Amino acid sequence: MTQPVNPPNPLNLNDPATRDALHARLRYYRDLGIGEFYRREVDTALYAQPEPQSTPTQSRAVPQPPAPAEQRIPQSNQETDIAPRKPFPAAPAQAEPVPPEQHFAALKLIREEIGDCTRCALAKGRNKLVFGDGDPNAKLMFVGEGPGADEDASGLPFVGRGGQLLNNMIGAMGLTREQVYIANVVKCRPPNNRTPEPDEAHTCSPFLFRQIDVVRPQVIVALGQTAVTYLTGEKRPLSAWRGTVHPLRGTKLIVTYHPAFLLRDPNQKKHAWADLQIAMRELGLKPPERK
Ligand code: URA
Repeated sequence: MTQPVNPPNPLNLNDPATRDALHARLRYYRDLGIGEFYRREVDTALYAQPEPQSTPTQSRAVPQPPAPAEQRIPQSNQETDIAPRKPFPAAPAQAEPVPPEQHFAALKLIREEIGDCTRCALAKGRNKLVFGDGDPNAKLMFVGEGPGADEDASGLPFVGRGGQLLNNMIGAMGLTREQVYIANVVKCRPPNNRTPEPDEAHTCSPFLFRQIDVVRPQVIVALGQTAVTYLTGEKRPLSAWRGTVHPLRGTKLIVTYHPAFLLRDPNQKKHAWADLQIAMRELGLKPPERK
């Protein structure tokens, strides 16, 4: 006899635990390079009706009230609630090179210009603005997405668990954190570590481009989907970027997974290492001898 199957319960998006779980799942997919989701109507005919409750102790799905309007799927056009993609604003033209001995001062000027920023909504929730960190003359720059809780508290990029992994990745390349430069697409922490909204990223990224133009690294490593999307202005799956060198503002862009993704899926570390080896080849670096 076919067992009755309960129809899936609608998600309660007002429940913080559900929202956190959903955020984590979406981040995982985004890190894999999957960014577009389409809602599909559930064919309820596929699900048998639950049997009437026979004993009070039997566990059974509680009948759900109809989903609130914003969770319901339109009958006729299932994609009507997907926002149309706005074109990316053009990245600012590349600035003139700054003499190496002036890199530090030039970065300081950009930081001063950002000031106590209120240009986007992220300002409301931030504790510390996270500008960037490292050698103003670095040959290698890492670009992440945006500060998390630890970075928001300290004012420095990549200092949490993901930061420790990034430090290890840098060490495996035979470098120290002090020898590279690290910055993010947005400089203030998005609430719940959500992905920055396009308007937030577009408001903030001109400062990142100016940091890149001052530091002029030979190689930029984009950490994850958000970084590569806003660096290039092109939305493609991560798999389409990885494995090759892309020209970007007079430097070479290499794309790999975000450390937070590698913490969730350590099996992918070997692939990230392959990406970092491309960066090392471009920089003329050899991995340190194993002791
Ligand atoms: N994740 C990022 O993308 N950047 C940070 O600075 C920290 C975590």
